[in-house]
Amino acid sequence: MSTTVPTTAALQSARIAVLGYGSQGRAHALNLKDSGLDVTVGVRRNGPSWEKARADGLKTAEPAEAVKGADLVAVLTPDMVQAALYTDAIAPNLKPNAALLFAHGFNVHFGQIAPRTDIDVVLVAPKGPGALVRREYEKGHGVPCIYAIHQDASDQARDKVLAYAAGIGGARAMLIETSFAEETETDLFGEQAVLCGGATELVLAGFETLTEAGYQPEIAYYEVLHELKLIVDLLHEGGLAKMHQFISETAQYGDLTRGPRVVDAGAKARMKQILDEIRDGRFAKEWVEEYKAGNGNYRALKQKDLNHPIEQVGASLRARMPWLNPAQPAVTTVAP
Ligand code: NAD
Ligand code: MG
Ligand code: MG
Ligand code: MG
Ligand code: MG
Repeated sequence: MSTTVPTTAALQSARIAVLGYGSQGRAHALNLKDSGLDVTVGVRRNGPSWEKARADGLKTAEPAEAVKGADLVAVLTPDMVQAALYTDAIAPNLKPNAALLFAHGFNVHFGQIAPRTDIDVVLVAPKGPGALVRREYEKGHGVPCIYAIHQDASDQARDKVLAYAAGIGGARAMLIETSFAEETETDLFGEQAVLCGGATELVLAGFETLTEAGYQPEIAYYEVLHELKLIVDLLHEGGLAKMHQFISETAQYGDLTRGPRVVDAGAKARMKQILDEIRDGRFAKEWVEEYKAGNGNYRALKQKDLNHPIEQVGASLRARMPWLNPAQPAVTTVAP
């Protein structure tokens, strides 16, 4: 953790290009601009993000044009398109001593991008989705960020990365230094084993257990999916202590005695295998090959999730709880 609060000073006269205008790209570009920095969004002229960025009051240019003359380029496109973007638009156009910034270390850490040696390579990853990064900034706050320096060609990489983190609001909250390896490996592990992979499989197994035993799917949905948010919010706000404080003694006793039987030493051993596959590059290799082969397996698995019975009962129950997600129908088909 840093002791003095970083400012945007090191980027005050810099030209910043933000490539990609999705979850993170939009939030970073708007926050940097509102912090008084010079931002151009690099997006495809015919793509949907071009008009959106313009309507938000930002300058736009084709990615290669945005990179030319930039002192810092933030790569905020999907991870799987970054290697081609680096080869086509970034490497031929980036000035020596300019900084290349990522929000996730995947491509650099797993060798999909071998950055030129005459540039800085840094990382700033906010610990929250883009919408929150923007919303907290607008309120005068910020979302904590982790940052890393992979390569320091200009001798100013640290000043630049801290100034960027300040520009998107992260320094108002907290900045923690990490490495590309630690950010990448822990991020992948978290989403695979716990946040996305682990949590959804736990929900589905619980739903199947109840419905196969003859309980109504609507009741099962409320018990294992809907109410998960209440518990996660308590954990998020106050850890295990706050959850224990707000659930019944019966729930606490069941949690303490039954939870470890569901997520047991076998589950932890399998988590360790998942972590090993991340660390030795097997997961990265598999995902890059899947993407290059056209994502057939990825799409089929995703469609299987969307076809699960919990999705039908969920859609009809959520339709009666309009406060949950106004005007956002659930996606039930995977786009090609
Ligand atoms: P996203 O999918 O929301 O948006 C990506 C944007 O990139 C699109 O909106 C589009 O403007 C652009 N784009 C898409 N395909 C392109 C192509 N072929 N060429 C050029 N531009 C293209 O992405 P995201 O979730 O904001 O992720 C961006 C980066 O941030 C990733 O490295 C991701 O790992 C990282 N990250 C995301 C989050 C998050 O909450 N979503 C959190 C931390 C880090
Ligand atoms: Mg993450
Ligand atoms: Mg991730
Ligand atoms: Mg799943
Ligand atoms: Mg209950």
